[in-house]
Amino acid sequence: MLDYHVHTALCRHAEGTLEEFLAEAERQGLEEIGFADHYPLGLLNYTPRNQVTMDPQELEGYIAAVRRLGESSPRVKVKLGIEVDYLPEREELLRKQLSGCPFDYIIGSVHFMEGWDFTHPVYAETYHHRDIDQLYRRYFELVQQACASGLFDIIGHIDVIKKFGFRPRESLEPYWVETARLLAETGTGIELNTAGRDAPVEEFYPDRGFLEACLAAGVPVTLGSDAHAPHQVGRYFPEALALLREAGCRQITSFSGRRRSIITLGGN
Ligand code: ZN
Ligand code: FE
Ligand code: FE
Ligand code: ZN
Repeated sequence: MLDYHVHTALCRHAEGTLEEFLAEAERQGLEEIGFADHYPLGLLNYTPRNQVTMDPQELEGYIAAVRRLGESSPRVKVKLGIEVDYLPEREELLRKQLSGCPFDYIIGSVHFMEGWDFTHPVYAETYHHRDIDQLYRRYFELVQQACASGLFDIIGHIDVIKKFGFRPRESLEPYWVETARLLAETGTGIELNTAGRDAPVEEFYPDRGFLEACLAAGVPVTLGSDAHAPHQVGRYFPEALALLREAGCRQITSFSGRRRSIITLGGN
């Protein structure tokens, strides 16, 4: 199996050395580990109130360090990924910057809505003062724009707006169906991201119904722990794999140089 969503200490809110993350992947018998640390927001001329990404001048070192690790790892394949913030007004800038980059895959994530880092615990209080239906509407609008941009191979934690347990009154089904259609149409994948299990919502991203809508539409699926510490690599993967099989998923998608290949899921 593979874990395609692993952070490093460069983002200032993760801990552990690359070697420690790799050792944990090895211990669990994973075939691949993919680092996907936070792309420097500084390069997008965006300064959040809390620094959550590496600095622009650290990007090169990150790329070199992940590559070096891969060269010294005989058992576990090491992939070079990145998690990029989707900011609608930065699309063209990002397109230019990412075009020459050597990543195996690019995860696009929506973490900001009108300047609010809504996945950050420090600002979670804000949910109490917002219309939750409206928030979900805006969130899915941004996710759909991210798909349509064609910039990303994978959308990160695709329903992370539920992270703190605030649920809308209206049904999400129409969002799921429309988003799944758009993902399929643009060849964008999703990840089953197990980190939500350790968040207040205590659930994987996405919801099972959303996952099923994606599978029905033929959307590629990868797997990620969103580890911010070595012991989180592969967290809840047995459960995640059972869920994928139950939901009818028969294959996982891996990436090399932004090209997809298929790993058949064993079992029944
Ligand atoms: Zn992070
Ligand atoms: Fe994220
Ligand atoms: Fe992440
Ligand atoms: Zn993430």
